[in-house]
Amino acid sequence: MSVLRLAIPTPLRRLFDYLPPPGLSAEDIAALEPGVRLRVPFGHREVTGILVAVLNEGELAHDQLKPALALLDHEPLPGRALLDLCLWAADYYHHPAGEVLSLAFPTHLRRGAPHQPAGEPGWTLSQRGKGLPEGALPRSPRQSQALGLLQKSGALSQARLRREGISTAVLRALRDKDLVAPCTLAPQHFEASARDGLKLNPDQQRAVRSMAASLGAFHCHLLEGVTGSGKTEVYLQLIDACLQRGLQALVLIPEIGLTPQTLARFEQRFDAEIVVFHSGLGDSRRLQAWEAARDGRAHIVIGTRSAVFTPLQRPGLIIVDEEHDLAFKQQDGFRYSARDVAVKRAQLQACPVVLGSATPSLESLNNALSGRYQHHRLPQRAGRGALPRLEVLDIRRQALTGGLSPDLQQALRATLERGEQALLFLNRRGYAPSLICHDCGWTAQCAGCDARLTLHRRAQRLRCHHCGASAAVPRTCPECQGDRLLTRGLGTEQAEESLRQLLPRWPVYRVDSDSTARREALLKLLDEINRGEPCVLLGTQMLAKGHHFPAVSLVAVMDADALLFSADFRGEERMAQLLTQVAGRAGRDGLPGLVLLQSHYPDHPALQALLREDYGTRARHLLEQRHQQGLPPAGHLALVRSDCADAARGEQFLADVRRQAQPQLPAGSSLVGPLPAPLHRRAGLYRSQLLLSSPSRTAARAGAALLVATAEAMPRVNGCHWSLEVDPQELG
Ligand code: ADP
Ligand code: ZN
Ligand code: ZN
Repeated sequence: MSVLRLAIPTPLRRLFDYLPPPGLSAEDIAALEPGVRLRVPFGHREVTGILVAVLNEGELAHDQLKPALALLDHEPLPGRALLDLCLWAADYYHHPAGEVLSLAFPTHLRRGAPHQPAGEPGWTLSQRGKGLPEGALPRSPRQSQALGLLQKSGALSQARLRREGISTAVLRALRDKDLVAPCTLAPQHFEASARDGLKLNPDQQRAVRSMAASLGAFHCHLLEGVTGSGKTEVYLQLIDACLQRGLQALVLIPEIGLTPQTLARFEQRFDAEIVVFHSGLGDSRRLQAWEAARDGRAHIVIGTRSAVFTPLQRPGLIIVDEEHDLAFKQQDGFRYSARDVAVKRAQLQACPVVLGSATPSLESLNNALSGRYQHHRLPQRAGRGALPRLEVLDIRRQALTGGLSPDLQQALRATLERGEQALLFLNRRGYAPSLICHDCGWTAQCAGCDARLTLHRRAQRLRCHHCGASAAVPRTCPECQGDRLLTRGLGTEQAEESLRQLLPRWPVYRVDSDSTARREALLKLLDEINRGEPCVLLGTQMLAKGHHFPAVSLVAVMDADALLFSADFRGEERMAQLLTQVAGRAGRDGLPGLVLLQSHYPDHPALQALLREDYGTRARHLLEQRHQQGLPPAGHLALVRSDCADAARGEQFLADVRRQAQPQLPAGSSLVGPLPAPLHRRAGLYRSQLLLSSPSRTAARAGAALLVATAEAMPRVNGCHWSLEVDPQELG
C-alpha cells in the first residue's frame, strides 16, 4: 500500500502523510508525479496539499492515516525543477514547505480550483530531444517517428499526433527519456523577434558575448557596471540571444516603480509576449500571466521578488537587476532572498543567471572576486553622459530654509534657469518626524512602538512608520492642554512646501510612497518628468532606483547625516550603495552632472571615502574589512527573533534556546544574545534576538537547524512568537 507525502500550507515545519484518494488504481498511484495537488482533510478543515513523494510506508501505521479526498491534477503544474527549488528553499530557510510551495501557484489554484489551461494539450521537444540525431532510436520506430515529427514542427497537439498513429504511451516513453515534454498549445504561440539594438561598446560586447556563450548551462555572472554604463542594453541583447534559441527569459527587478520604464524598453525592442508580475495585478490577470509563463507562450517574464517562483516551460536565462537591492529580501514570514533563490534556480534548471548592479552587494562581489561567479565590468558610462562630480556641502551654522542651505538653493536656481532638472533626495516621508508641546515637552508617541509618530499634514494624521498605526492630530497638548504644538524635523511633505515657496516659477514633484500609492499616479509623473521641462523632483529612496531621467543634471542629498550613523555592520555598504545610486541619476544624457551632499559632518571618513574613491574601490576595501572581522560574506549569520507581549518572557525564551543549543553548536560557531532588537517594541510586541555566527555556510546551516529544533522542542510560551532568519540583511 502506498502512502502519499504532502506539503500543506501550515506553520508546521513538516510534511504530512495520507492514503491515496479512493478510486485510484495501483497503476494510477504509481504514475503520480510529485507536484500534483490533492484535496485533503486537515484538522477540521479541507485544504489543498502538494504531493512531494509517494512512499511505500509512512511514519504512521496505515490505520492512523486518513485518505486524501481527491486528486486535483493529472500532471504537476510547476515542473520538477521548480518543485525541487521550493523544497530546497524550505530546507535552507527553515520554512514550512507547504507555504513555500504555495508561492509557485496563483491564488485560485492554491485554494484548489481546477486547472483549466487555455488551449489544447500537446507535446514539444525537450532540450535533449532537439539535439538528438535522426535514427537515434532504431529499436522503437514509433518513438523515432514521433520525434521526427516534433523535430520538424517544434510542437504538436496530442490530437494531431494521435492522427499520425502515435499513442500517449509512446510519448510518455519519450518523455521518460527526457526527449519530449507535455505542453499546452495555445493559438497565440508565436516566435519572438527583436529589433536591432544599439551598437555595443567593447566592454558591453565582451560581456554579451561571454554571457551568451554560457546559454544552455548553469553559469553565474556578475555584471558590475557603473550607473548608466548600459547594463540594460546588455540584458536586452542577451535576452535576444536567449529568445533566438527558443528559450524564455526571467527578469527580476526590485520594485514596481521601475517597471514602466523598463517595460517600455523591453516592448520597444522585442516583438514578443512579455508578461509582468507586480503587486497591482488582480488575481485573474495574474493567473493568465502565470499560465503564459508556464505553457511557454510568454517569452519574457518580468517581475518583482516572488516572480522567482514562476513556472517556466523552457527556462533559458535569469536576470536579477539591481541585485544589491534590499527589496529582493522578504522581511517577514518566509524570509528568503530572491537573488539567492534565483541563483539556485539557475543551477537546478541548468541555465545562466546574471546579477547586475552599479553597486553590487559585497556577497556577490566576493563571489566574483573569488572566481565563483564570472565577473564582467562596465567601468564607463555608455551613452553621452559622464559620471557626475560629487561635493559635500558643509551646512554647520548655515541658515537652512526648508532644509536647504543657501548654496544648495543657489545651485537649484542655476540648474532650473539653465532649463535642466534637479532631483532632491530626502529619506523621510510626511511633514515632520515629530510633534512636540512647546509648553511641557510632550511628544506624540506610537502607542505600540518605541517610536515617535510622524505628522502627515495633508492627510491631517499622525502616523507610525513602523507599525502603520495612525491617530488624529491633537489640537491641544494631551498632557498640559497647551495649544502650542510644534513640529520638529523635516519630511518630504514639508520640503515640498518650502520648495514651492522658494522656487515659485518651477513645478515641484514629490515622489514617495504617499504621493504615488497608485500606479497610474507614478506613471503620469514619470511621463511629465520625461518631457524634460525644468522642474524639481523631490523624493525618498524610491527615486534612487534605476530611473533614467535624461534632463536631471543636479542631484542633492538633503540629509546625508541620516545615513552616517548606522548600528548595522552593513551600514557603510548601504550608504555607499544608496549615495552612488542617487548620484547616478545625474547627468545621464550628456549634461554635466553635479551631486551635492548636505552634512553637518563633512569630514566624516565614510563621506570622505566616497569623494575619494568610487563604489567599486570602496566596496573592495569594505570587503577586506569583513574578511578580517569574519562578517558576511566571510562569515555566515542566522538570527532567531522573539516577539512577545512580555519583554522578560521573550528574552527568557531565547536564553533557554541558547543554553540548550550551546553545547551542540558546530565548531567555530557562536551565539550572541539574547539582546533587545534596535526597535525594542513594535506594534505592542517586545522584540529580542539571538544571533548565530558561523565561519562557513555548512556550519551555519547545521547551527540554524539546531536552533530551530531546539526552539520547536521548547514548551510554547503564551503570547510569544519566534522565527528564524537565515542570512539576515538587517539586524533589526
Ligand atoms: P544602466 O542600465 O547601466 O544604468 P542603460 O542601459 O540605461 O544603463 O544605459 C544608459 C544610457 O546609455 C541609455 O540612454 C542608453 O540608451 C545609452 N546606451 C547604452 N548602451 C549604449 C551604446 N552601446 N551606445 C550608445 N548609447 C548607449
Ligand atoms: Zn504640553
Ligand atoms: Zn507603531
